[in-house]
Amino acid sequence: MTTDFSRMWIDGAFVPGEGTPRAVLNPTDGSTIAEVPEAGSGQVQQAIAAARRAQPAWAALAPVERAAIMQRIAGLIRDNADALAKLVVREQGKPITEARGEVGGAAEFFSYYAEFARRIQGEILPSDLPDEQIWIQRVPVGVVVGIIPWNYPAALVSRKVAPAMITGNTIVLKPHEETPLSALFMARLMAEAGVPDGVVNIVTGDGATVGAALTSNPDVNLITMTGSVPTGKKIMRTAADNLVPVSLELGGKAPFIVMEDADLDIAVAAAVTSRFMNCGQVCICAERILVHEAVHDEFARRFVAAAKKLRVGDPMEDATDIGPKISVAELEKVERLTAAAVTAGAEVLLQGGRPDSAPVEGGNWLTPTVLSVEDSDMEIMQYEVFGPVVPLMKVRDFDHAVKIANASAYGLSAYLFTNDFRRIMRAIHEIDFGEVYLNRIGPEALQGFHTGYRNSGPGGDDGVHGLESYLRKKTVYANHSGRAQVGLMPYGAH
Ligand code: NAD
Repeated sequence: MTTDFSRMWIDGAFVPGEGTPRAVLNPTDGSTIAEVPEAGSGQVQQAIAAARRAQPAWAALAPVERAAIMQRIAGLIRDNADALAKLVVREQGKPITEARGEVGGAAEFFSYYAEFARRIQGEILPSDLPDEQIWIQRVPVGVVVGIIPWNYPAALVSRKVAPAMITGNTIVLKPHEETPLSALFMARLMAEAGVPDGVVNIVTGDGATVGAALTSNPDVNLITMTGSVPTGKKIMRTAADNLVPVSLELGGKAPFIVMEDADLDIAVAAAVTSRFMNCGQVCICAERILVHEAVHDEFARRFVAAAKKLRVGDPMEDATDIGPKISVAELEKVERLTAAAVTAGAEVLLQGGRPDSAPVEGGNWLTPTVLSVEDSDMEIMQYEVFGPVVPLMKVRDFDHAVKIANASAYGLSAYLFTNDFRRIMRAIHEIDFGEVYLNRIGPEALQGFHTGYRNSGPGGDDGVHGLESYLRKKTVYANHSGRAQVGLMPYGAH
Protein backbone atom coordinates (compact mmCIF):
# COMPACT_ATOMS: atom_id res chain seq x y z
CA MET A 1 0.00 0.00 0.00
CA THR A 2 1.37 3.44 -0.84
CA THR A 3 0.34 6.14 1.55
CA ASP A 4 -0.02 9.81 0.85
CA PHE A 5 1.36 11.32 4.04
CA SER A 6 0.45 14.86 3.00
CA ARG A 7 -3.11 14.41 4.22
CA MET A 8 -4.65 13.80 7.62
CA TRP A 9 -8.02 12.20 8.29
CA ILE A 10 -10.95 14.36 9.37
CA ASP A 11 -14.62 13.38 9.04
CA GLY A 12 -13.82 10.55 6.66
CA ALA A 13 -11.85 12.75 4.24
CA PHE A 14 -8.10 12.91 3.69
CA VAL A 15 -7.29 16.60 3.81
CA PRO A 16 -4.17 18.79 3.71
CA GLY A 17 -3.33 20.94 6.71
CA GLU A 18 -3.81 24.69 6.96
CA GLY A 19 -0.34 25.28 8.43
CA THR A 20 3.13 24.86 6.92
CA PRO A 21 3.78 21.15 6.27
CA ARG A 22 6.21 19.56 8.72
CA ALA A 23 9.17 17.41 7.69
CA VAL A 24 9.44 14.00 9.36
CA LEU A 25 13.06 12.94 9.79
CA ASN A 26 14.51 9.45 9.72
CA PRO A 27 16.53 9.09 12.95
CA THR A 28 18.80 6.55 11.23
CA ASP A 29 20.26 9.00 8.70
CA GLY A 30 18.63 12.39 9.29
CA SER A 31 16.92 12.38 5.89
CA THR A 32 13.40 13.70 5.35
CA ILE A 33 10.96 10.83 4.93
CA ALA A 34 7.82 12.82 4.27
CA GLU A 35 6.11 16.14 4.81
CA VAL A 36 2.96 15.92 6.88
CA PRO A 37 0.07 18.31 7.42
CA GLU A 38 0.05 20.82 10.22
CA ALA A 39 -3.55 21.23 11.36
CA GLY A 40 -4.99 24.71 11.78
CA SER A 41 -7.15 25.57 14.78
CA GLY A 42 -10.25 25.52 12.56
CA GLN A 43 -9.40 21.96 11.55
CA VAL A 44 -9.07 20.90 15.17
CA GLN A 45 -12.55 22.30 15.69
CA GLN A 46 -13.82 20.51 12.57
CA ALA A 47 -12.43 17.19 13.78
CA ILE A 48 -14.06 17.50 17.18
CA ALA A 49 -17.35 18.60 15.61
CA ALA A 50 -17.20 15.63 13.21
CA ALA A 51 -16.58 13.27 16.10
CA ARG A 52 -19.52 14.81 17.96
CA ARG A 53 -21.85 14.41 14.97
CA ALA A 54 -20.78 10.83 14.32
CA GLN A 55 -21.03 9.63 17.90
CA PRO A 56 -24.79 8.96 18.36
CA ALA A 57 -25.09 6.77 15.25
CA TRP A 58 -21.88 4.95 16.12
CA ALA A 59 -23.09 4.27 19.65
CA ALA A 60 -26.45 3.14 18.28
CA LEU A 61 -24.86 0.30 16.31
CA ALA A 62 -24.96 -3.09 17.96
CA PRO A 63 -21.59 -3.59 19.67
CA VAL A 64 -20.98 -6.66 17.49
CA GLU A 65 -21.25 -4.44 14.42
CA ARG A 66 -18.62 -2.09 15.85
CA ALA A 67 -16.52 -5.12 16.70
CA ALA A 68 -16.75 -6.45 13.15
CA ILE A 69 -15.21 -3.23 11.83
CA MET A 70 -12.50 -3.46 14.49
CA GLN A 71 -11.70 -7.03 13.51
CA ARG A 72 -11.36 -5.86 9.91
CA ILE A 73 -8.90 -3.19 11.08
CA ALA A 74 -6.92 -5.85 12.97
CA GLY A 75 -6.87 -8.02 9.85
CA LEU A 76 -5.70 -5.14 7.66
CA ILE A 77 -2.93 -4.28 10.12
CA ARG A 78 -1.79 -7.92 9.96
CA ASP A 79 -2.00 -7.95 6.15
CA ASN A 80 0.16 -4.82 6.05
CA ALA A 81 2.40 -5.73 8.99
CA ASP A 82 5.61 -5.76 7.04
CA ALA A 83 5.08 -2.30 5.53
CA LEU A 84 3.90 -0.84 8.84
CA ALA A 85 6.83 -2.32 10.77
CA LYS A 86 9.27 -0.81 8.27
CA LEU A 87 7.50 2.53 8.58
CA VAL A 88 7.82 2.38 12.39
CA VAL A 89 11.55 1.76 11.96
CA ARG A 90 11.93 4.59 9.48
CA GLU A 91 10.19 7.21 11.55
CA GLN A 92 11.12 6.05 15.07
CA GLY A 93 14.32 4.03 14.75
CA LYS A 94 13.57 0.95 16.86
CA PRO A 95 15.06 -2.31 15.53
CA ILE A 96 12.88 -4.09 12.99
CA THR A 97 12.55 -7.13 15.27
CA GLU A 98 10.95 -4.89 17.91
CA ALA A 99 8.86 -3.04 15.32
CA ARG A 100 7.33 -6.35 14.20
CA GLY A 101 6.31 -6.97 17.81
CA GLU A 102 4.85 -3.48 18.07
CA VAL A 103 2.76 -3.97 14.94
CA GLY A 104 1.54 -7.33 16.24
CA GLY A 105 0.43 -5.46 19.36
CA ALA A 106 -1.24 -2.77 17.24
CA ALA A 107 -3.44 -5.47 15.67
CA GLU A 108 -4.04 -7.27 18.97
CA PHE A 109 -5.50 -4.17 20.66
CA PHE A 110 -8.28 -4.15 18.05
CA SER A 111 -8.91 -7.91 18.32
CA TYR A 112 -8.82 -7.87 22.10
CA TYR A 113 -11.20 -4.94 22.56
CA ALA A 114 -13.51 -6.23 19.80
CA GLU A 115 -14.10 -9.23 22.07
CA PHE A 116 -15.73 -6.88 24.60
CA ALA A 117 -18.73 -6.44 22.29
CA ARG A 118 -20.78 -8.82 24.44
CA ARG A 119 -19.10 -8.07 27.74
CA ILE A 120 -19.83 -4.47 28.70
CA GLN A 121 -22.35 -4.99 31.45
CA GLY A 122 -24.52 -3.02 33.83
CA GLU A 123 -26.02 -3.75 37.24
CA ILE A 124 -29.57 -4.25 38.55
CA LEU A 125 -30.18 -3.11 42.11
CA PRO A 126 -33.05 -3.66 44.57
CA SER A 127 -35.23 -0.59 44.97
CA ASP A 128 -36.56 0.90 48.23
CA LEU A 129 -39.97 1.14 46.57
CA PRO A 130 -42.28 -1.62 45.36
CA ASP A 131 -42.67 -2.21 41.64
CA GLU A 132 -39.58 -0.29 40.76
CA GLN A 133 -36.36 -1.32 39.05
CA ILE A 134 -33.10 0.47 39.48
CA TRP A 135 -30.32 -0.25 37.11
CA ILE A 136 -26.96 1.21 36.32
CA GLN A 137 -25.83 0.99 32.77
CA ARG A 138 -22.52 1.86 31.21
CA VAL A 139 -22.75 4.38 28.39
CA PRO A 140 -20.11 6.00 26.16
CA VAL A 141 -18.48 9.20 27.40
CA GLY A 142 -18.93 10.77 23.94
CA VAL A 143 -15.95 12.39 22.22
CA VAL A 144 -12.44 11.31 23.20
CA VAL A 145 -9.20 13.13 22.49
CA GLY A 146 -6.13 10.87 22.34
CA ILE A 147 -2.60 12.28 22.52
CA ILE A 148 0.36 9.95 22.09
CA PRO A 149 4.19 10.13 22.23
CA TRP A 150 6.80 9.03 19.70
CA ASN A 151 8.17 5.81 21.20
CA TYR A 152 5.39 3.44 20.01
CA PRO A 153 3.85 5.31 17.05
CA ALA A 154 1.69 2.37 15.87
CA ALA A 155 0.76 0.42 19.03
CA LEU A 156 -0.30 3.52 20.94
CA VAL A 157 -2.72 4.52 18.17
CA SER A 158 -4.51 1.21 18.70
CA ARG A 159 -4.25 1.44 22.49
CA LYS A 160 -6.34 4.64 22.40
CA VAL A 161 -8.59 4.05 19.37
CA ALA A 162 -9.70 0.44 20.01
CA PRO A 163 -11.22 0.96 23.49
CA ALA A 164 -12.87 4.18 22.28
CA MET A 165 -14.50 2.37 19.35
CA ILE A 166 -15.89 -0.63 21.20
CA THR A 167 -17.45 1.56 23.88
CA GLY A 168 -19.37 3.61 21.29
CA ASN A 169 -17.21 6.70 21.54
CA THR A 170 -15.67 8.65 18.72
CA ILE A 171 -12.10 9.89 18.86
CA VAL A 172 -9.73 12.55 17.59
CA LEU A 173 -6.17 11.28 17.91
CA LYS A 174 -3.01 13.32 17.59
CA PRO A 175 0.25 11.42 17.11
CA HIS A 176 3.55 12.98 18.11
CA GLU A 177 4.77 15.55 15.57
CA GLU A 178 8.02 13.60 15.07
CA THR A 179 6.32 10.24 14.38
CA PRO A 180 2.94 10.80 12.68
CA LEU A 181 3.46 8.42 9.74
CA SER A 182 2.31 5.16 11.33
CA ALA A 183 -0.91 6.87 12.47
CA LEU A 184 -1.53 8.24 8.97
CA PHE A 185 -0.85 4.78 7.48
CA MET A 186 -3.27 3.24 9.97
CA ALA A 187 -5.86 5.90 9.12
CA ARG A 188 -5.93 4.51 5.56
CA LEU A 189 -6.44 0.99 6.94
CA MET A 190 -9.25 2.17 9.21
CA ALA A 191 -10.93 3.91 6.28
CA GLU A 192 -10.59 0.74 4.19
CA ALA A 193 -12.07 -1.29 7.05
CA GLY A 194 -15.25 0.81 6.86
CA VAL A 195 -14.96 3.06 9.90
CA PRO A 196 -17.83 5.55 9.40
CA ASP A 197 -16.97 9.19 8.75
CA GLY A 198 -15.97 11.09 11.87
CA VAL A 199 -15.74 8.07 14.18
CA VAL A 200 -11.93 8.18 14.12
CA ASN A 201 -10.06 11.32 13.13
CA ILE A 202 -6.27 11.53 12.91
CA VAL A 203 -5.05 15.10 13.24
CA THR A 204 -1.35 15.89 12.92
CA GLY A 205 0.66 18.81 14.23
CA ASP A 206 2.61 20.36 17.03
CA GLY A 207 1.86 19.68 20.69
CA ALA A 208 1.92 23.27 21.89
CA THR A 209 -0.60 24.38 19.25
CA VAL A 210 -2.63 21.48 17.86
CA GLY A 211 -2.35 19.38 21.02
CA ALA A 212 -3.26 22.37 23.17
CA ALA A 213 -6.23 23.23 20.94
CA LEU A 214 -7.54 19.67 21.21
CA THR A 215 -7.13 19.42 24.95
CA SER A 216 -8.56 22.85 25.73
CA ASN A 217 -11.71 22.31 23.68
CA PRO A 218 -14.76 22.27 25.96
CA ASP A 219 -16.73 19.95 23.67
CA VAL A 220 -14.62 16.93 24.62
CA ASN A 221 -15.62 14.28 27.17
CA LEU A 222 -12.33 12.49 27.88
CA ILE A 223 -8.68 13.22 27.27
CA THR A 224 -6.43 10.18 27.25
CA MET A 225 -2.78 11.08 26.95
CA THR A 226 0.51 9.18 27.01
CA GLY A 227 3.64 11.27 27.27
CA SER A 228 5.89 13.23 29.58
CA VAL A 229 5.13 14.55 33.06
CA PRO A 230 5.36 18.28 32.16
CA THR A 231 2.93 17.85 29.26
CA GLY A 232 0.62 15.72 31.38
CA LYS A 233 0.47 18.46 34.01
CA LYS A 234 -0.29 21.10 31.38
CA ILE A 235 -3.10 19.00 29.95
CA MET A 236 -4.59 18.32 33.37
CA ARG A 237 -4.55 22.04 34.22
CA THR A 238 -6.22 22.95 30.92
CA ALA A 239 -8.78 20.18 31.22
CA ALA A 240 -9.67 21.39 34.70
CA ASP A 241 -11.06 24.60 33.21
CA ASN A 242 -13.60 22.55 31.30
CA LEU A 243 -13.98 19.84 33.95
CA VAL A 244 -13.00 17.26 31.34
CA PRO A 245 -11.71 14.00 32.86
CA VAL A 246 -8.18 12.97 31.97
CA SER A 247 -6.35 9.68 31.93
CA LEU A 248 -2.58 10.21 31.91
CA GLU A 249 0.13 7.63 31.26
CA LEU A 250 3.33 9.50 32.01
CA GLY A 251 6.98 8.68 32.57
CA GLY A 252 8.70 6.06 34.68
CA LYS A 253 11.91 5.42 36.58
CA ALA A 254 11.60 1.69 37.07
CA PRO A 255 13.70 0.12 39.82
CA PHE A 256 15.16 -3.27 38.88
CA ILE A 257 15.97 -5.16 42.09
CA VAL A 258 18.21 -8.22 42.05
CA MET A 259 18.52 -10.18 45.29
CA GLU A 260 21.39 -12.51 46.17
CA ASP A 261 19.31 -15.66 45.60
CA ALA A 262 18.19 -14.69 42.09
CA ASP A 263 19.25 -16.68 39.07
CA LEU A 264 21.88 -14.25 37.78
CA ASP A 265 21.78 -15.49 34.19
CA ILE A 266 18.08 -14.75 34.02
CA ALA A 267 18.41 -11.45 35.87
CA VAL A 268 21.27 -10.18 33.69
CA ALA A 269 19.55 -11.12 30.43
CA ALA A 270 16.31 -9.52 31.64
CA ALA A 271 18.05 -6.34 32.80
CA VAL A 272 19.87 -5.93 29.48
CA THR A 273 16.67 -6.27 27.47
CA SER A 274 14.68 -4.13 29.87
CA ARG A 275 17.20 -1.29 29.78
CA PHE A 276 18.26 -1.25 26.14
CA MET A 277 15.11 -2.16 24.18
CA ASN A 278 14.01 0.62 21.89
CA CYS A 279 17.31 2.38 22.72
CA GLY A 280 16.12 2.78 26.31
CA GLN A 281 13.09 4.80 25.22
CA VAL A 282 10.30 2.94 27.01
CA CYS A 283 8.34 4.13 30.05
CA ILE A 284 8.78 0.69 31.67
CA CYS A 285 12.54 0.41 30.98
CA ALA A 286 14.80 -0.59 33.88
CA GLU A 287 16.11 2.84 34.87
CA ARG A 288 17.80 2.03 38.23
CA ILE A 289 19.40 -1.36 38.87
CA LEU A 290 19.62 -2.17 42.58
CA VAL A 291 21.71 -5.25 43.33
CA HIS A 292 22.31 -7.04 46.63
CA GLU A 293 25.87 -6.47 47.79
CA ALA A 294 26.63 -10.21 47.84
CA VAL A 295 26.17 -10.48 44.06
CA HIS A 296 26.62 -6.88 42.96
CA ASP A 297 30.11 -7.19 41.52
CA GLU A 298 29.37 -10.42 39.70
CA PHE A 299 26.11 -9.00 38.33
CA ALA A 300 27.90 -5.80 37.22
CA ARG A 301 30.63 -7.81 35.47
CA ARG A 302 28.13 -9.93 33.56
CA PHE A 303 25.83 -6.99 32.80
CA VAL A 304 28.66 -4.91 31.37
CA ALA A 305 29.89 -7.86 29.32
CA ALA A 306 26.40 -8.38 27.88
CA ALA A 307 25.86 -4.66 27.21
CA LYS A 308 29.20 -4.50 25.35
CA LYS A 309 28.02 -7.22 22.99
CA LEU A 310 24.89 -5.34 21.92
CA ARG A 311 24.97 -4.36 18.30
CA VAL A 312 24.23 -0.70 17.69
CA GLY A 313 23.38 -0.27 14.05
CA ASP A 314 20.94 0.12 11.22
CA PRO A 315 17.55 -0.70 12.77
CA MET A 316 16.33 -2.18 9.48
CA GLU A 317 18.70 -5.13 10.00
CA ASP A 318 17.51 -8.14 11.98
CA ALA A 319 20.85 -8.45 13.80
CA THR A 320 20.61 -4.95 15.31
CA ASP A 321 19.92 -4.65 19.04
CA ILE A 322 19.96 -0.87 19.43
CA GLY A 323 18.89 1.66 16.82
CA PRO A 324 19.31 5.44 16.88
CA LYS A 325 17.78 7.85 19.38
CA ILE A 326 14.64 9.51 18.11
CA SER A 327 16.18 12.97 17.74
CA VAL A 328 19.30 15.04 18.32
CA ALA A 329 17.51 16.93 21.12
CA GLU A 330 16.70 13.67 22.94
CA LEU A 331 20.24 12.39 22.42
CA GLU A 332 21.70 15.56 23.91
CA LYS A 333 19.37 15.26 26.91
CA VAL A 334 20.77 11.80 27.64
CA GLU A 335 24.33 13.07 27.22
CA ARG A 336 23.70 15.92 29.66
CA LEU A 337 22.28 13.59 32.33
CA THR A 338 25.18 11.16 31.89
CA ALA A 339 27.83 13.89 32.12
CA ALA A 340 26.15 15.36 35.22
CA ALA A 341 26.17 11.93 36.86
CA VAL A 342 29.88 11.50 36.23
CA THR A 343 30.58 15.00 37.55
CA ALA A 344 28.55 14.15 40.65
CA GLY A 345 30.72 11.09 41.30
CA ALA A 346 29.27 8.16 39.32
CA GLU A 347 31.89 5.59 38.35
CA VAL A 348 31.89 4.59 34.69
CA LEU A 349 31.75 0.80 34.32
CA LEU A 350 31.13 0.94 30.59
CA GLN A 351 31.88 4.09 28.65
CA GLY A 352 29.35 4.59 25.90
CA GLY A 353 28.28 7.70 24.04
CA ARG A 354 28.52 8.75 20.41
CA PRO A 355 30.43 6.05 18.52
CA ASP A 356 33.66 7.02 16.71
CA SER A 357 32.26 5.79 13.44
CA ALA A 358 28.53 6.12 12.90
CA PRO A 359 26.80 2.88 11.83
CA VAL A 360 24.91 5.03 9.31
CA GLU A 361 25.96 8.61 8.58
CA GLY A 362 23.60 11.31 9.90
CA GLY A 363 21.89 9.14 12.57
CA ASN A 364 21.45 9.84 16.28
CA TRP A 365 23.72 7.11 17.66
CA LEU A 366 24.52 6.31 21.27
CA THR A 367 26.25 3.17 22.54
CA PRO A 368 25.43 1.80 26.03
CA THR A 369 26.84 3.40 29.17
CA VAL A 370 26.83 1.65 32.54
CA LEU A 371 27.46 3.64 35.71
CA SER A 372 27.94 2.67 39.32
CA VAL A 373 26.52 5.03 41.94
CA GLU A 374 26.35 5.15 45.72
CA ASP A 375 23.81 7.92 46.22
CA SER A 376 20.17 7.30 45.30
CA ASP A 377 19.42 11.04 45.38
CA MET A 378 21.59 11.73 42.35
CA GLU A 379 19.77 13.09 39.30
CA ILE A 380 20.58 9.95 37.31
CA MET A 381 18.72 7.94 39.98
CA GLN A 382 15.75 10.31 40.02
CA TYR A 383 15.21 11.65 36.49
CA GLU A 384 13.95 9.54 33.63
CA VAL A 385 16.93 8.97 31.27
CA PHE A 386 15.05 7.46 28.29
CA GLY A 387 18.29 6.31 26.66
CA PRO A 388 20.92 3.53 26.74
CA VAL A 389 22.46 4.65 30.02
CA VAL A 390 21.89 3.00 33.39
CA PRO A 391 23.10 3.41 36.97
CA LEU A 392 23.81 0.33 39.13
CA MET A 393 23.68 0.63 42.89
CA LYS A 394 24.66 -1.80 45.63
CA VAL A 395 21.99 -2.46 48.28
CA ARG A 396 22.54 -3.99 51.72
CA ASP A 397 19.38 -6.05 51.86
CA PHE A 398 15.77 -6.25 50.71
CA ASP A 399 14.57 -3.43 52.99
CA HIS A 400 17.23 -1.13 51.62
CA ALA A 401 16.24 -2.00 48.04
CA VAL A 402 12.54 -1.34 48.67
CA LYS A 403 13.28 1.96 50.39
CA ILE A 404 15.33 3.22 47.45
CA ALA A 405 12.84 1.86 44.92
CA ASN A 406 9.98 3.76 46.56
CA ALA A 407 11.92 7.01 47.00
CA SER A 408 10.94 8.20 43.52
CA ALA A 409 8.57 10.75 42.08
CA TYR A 410 7.56 8.05 39.59
CA GLY A 411 5.54 4.92 40.29
CA LEU A 412 4.88 3.04 37.06
CA SER A 413 6.80 -0.27 36.81
CA ALA A 414 9.12 -2.10 39.20
CA TYR A 415 11.06 -5.37 38.82
CA LEU A 416 12.17 -7.87 41.42
CA PHE A 417 14.37 -10.89 40.83
CA THR A 418 14.38 -13.31 43.75
CA ASN A 419 13.19 -16.83 44.54
CA ASP A 420 12.39 -16.06 48.15
CA PHE A 421 8.64 -16.44 48.63
CA ARG A 422 8.48 -14.18 51.67
CA ARG A 423 10.30 -11.37 49.88
CA ILE A 424 8.01 -11.77 46.90
CA MET A 425 4.93 -11.43 49.08
CA ARG A 426 6.42 -8.43 50.88
CA ALA A 427 7.31 -6.82 47.57
CA ILE A 428 3.71 -7.04 46.39
CA HIS A 429 2.62 -5.12 49.48
CA GLU A 430 5.53 -2.74 49.90
CA ILE A 431 6.67 -1.76 46.40
CA ASP A 432 4.57 1.29 45.77
CA PHE A 433 4.23 1.06 42.00
CA GLY A 434 1.31 0.40 39.67
CA GLU A 435 2.98 -2.63 38.07
CA VAL A 436 5.26 -5.11 39.81
CA TYR A 437 7.08 -7.68 37.66
CA LEU A 438 8.43 -10.70 39.54
CA ASN A 439 11.26 -12.61 37.84
CA ARG A 440 10.23 -11.26 34.47
CA ILE A 441 10.17 -8.04 32.51
CA GLY A 442 7.59 -6.31 30.34
CA PRO A 443 5.92 -5.64 28.06
CA GLU A 444 2.68 -5.39 29.95
CA ALA A 445 -0.24 -7.57 28.88
CA LEU A 446 -3.41 -6.45 27.12
CA GLN A 447 -5.51 -7.89 29.94
CA GLY A 448 -3.50 -6.16 32.69
CA PHE A 449 -3.91 -2.56 33.81
CA HIS A 450 -1.05 -0.28 32.82
CA THR A 451 -1.20 2.36 35.51
CA GLY A 452 1.26 4.47 37.40
CA TYR A 453 1.33 6.04 40.84
CA ARG A 454 2.55 9.54 41.77
CA ASN A 455 4.00 11.47 38.80
CA SER A 456 3.50 8.52 36.49
CA GLY A 457 0.01 9.88 36.18
CA PRO A 458 -3.59 9.31 37.19
CA GLY A 459 -5.44 6.91 34.94
CA GLY A 460 -4.40 3.86 33.02
CA ASP A 461 -4.77 1.78 29.89
CA ASP A 462 -5.60 -1.81 28.93
CA GLY A 463 -7.88 -4.55 30.17
CA VAL A 464 -11.24 -4.04 31.80
CA HIS A 465 -9.97 -1.21 33.98
CA GLY A 466 -8.53 0.69 31.02
CA LEU A 467 -11.87 0.32 29.27
CA GLU A 468 -13.69 1.75 32.28
CA SER A 469 -12.39 5.30 31.66
CA TYR A 470 -14.13 5.28 28.24
CA LEU A 471 -17.50 4.63 29.88
CA ARG A 472 -19.69 6.57 32.22
CA LYS A 473 -22.56 5.32 34.25
CA LYS A 474 -26.22 6.12 33.99
CA THR A 475 -28.60 5.17 36.78
CA VAL A 476 -32.18 4.46 35.77
CA TYR A 477 -35.14 4.41 38.21
CA ALA A 478 -38.07 2.72 36.50
CA ASN A 479 -41.49 2.75 38.12
CA HIS A 480 -43.74 0.02 36.73
CA SER A 481 -46.38 0.13 39.53
CA GLY A 482 -48.94 2.16 37.60
CA ARG A 483 -49.09 4.46 40.66
CA ALA A 484 -47.39 7.65 41.69
CA GLN A 485 -44.40 6.58 43.77
CA VAL A 486 -43.63 8.55 46.91
CA GLY A 487 -41.03 11.14 46.07
CA LEU A 488 -38.91 13.74 47.76
CA MET A 489 -38.12 11.67 50.79
CA PRO A 490 -34.82 11.63 52.58
CA TYR A 491 -32.53 8.65 52.07
CA GLY A 492 -33.46 5.73 54.26
CA ALA A 493 -36.96 7.06 55.04
CA HIS A 494 -38.42 3.55 54.74
P1 NAD B 1 5.65 14.66 25.24
O1 NAD B 1 4.93 14.95 26.49
O2 NAD B 1 6.68 15.61 24.77
O3 NAD B 1 4.63 14.51 24.04
C1 NAD B 1 3.51 13.65 24.12
C2 NAD B 1 2.40 14.20 23.26
O4 NAD B 1 1.89 15.39 23.85
C3 NAD B 1 2.81 14.56 21.85
O5 NAD B 1 1.82 14.17 20.93
C4 NAD B 1 2.90 16.07 21.91
O6 NAD B 1 2.72 16.69 20.67
C5 NAD B 1 1.78 16.40 22.86
N1 NAD B 1 1.87 17.71 23.50
C6 NAD B 1 2.98 18.44 23.78
N2 NAD B 1 2.64 19.60 24.37
C7 NAD B 1 1.29 19.61 24.47
C8 NAD B 1 0.35 20.53 25.01
N3 NAD B 1 0.73 21.69 25.56
N4 NAD B 1 -0.95 20.20 24.97
C9 NAD B 1 -1.36 19.02 24.44
N5 NAD B 1 -0.51 18.12 23.90
C10 NAD B 1 0.80 18.41 23.91
O7 NAD B 1 6.26 13.22 25.44
P2 NAD B 1 7.24 12.42 24.47
O8 NAD B 1 8.60 13.00 24.56
O9 NAD B 1 6.59 12.25 23.16
O10 NAD B 1 7.23 10.97 25.13
C11 NAD B 1 8.13 10.52 26.04
C12 NAD B 1 7.46 10.41 27.39
O11 NAD B 1 6.32 9.58 27.28
C13 NAD B 1 8.36 9.75 28.40
O12 NAD B 1 8.31 10.44 29.61
C14 NAD B 1 7.76 8.36 28.55
O13 NAD B 1 8.04 7.75 29.79
C15 NAD B 1 6.32 8.65 28.35
N6 NAD B 1 5.61 7.42 27.98
C16 NAD B 1 4.78 6.87 28.90
C17 NAD B 1 4.11 5.69 28.60
C18 NAD B 1 3.18 5.08 29.60
O14 NAD B 1 2.42 4.19 29.22
N7 NAD B 1 3.19 5.47 30.85
C19 NAD B 1 4.30 5.08 27.35
C20 NAD B 1 5.15 5.68 26.45
C21 NAD B 1 5.80 6.85 26.77
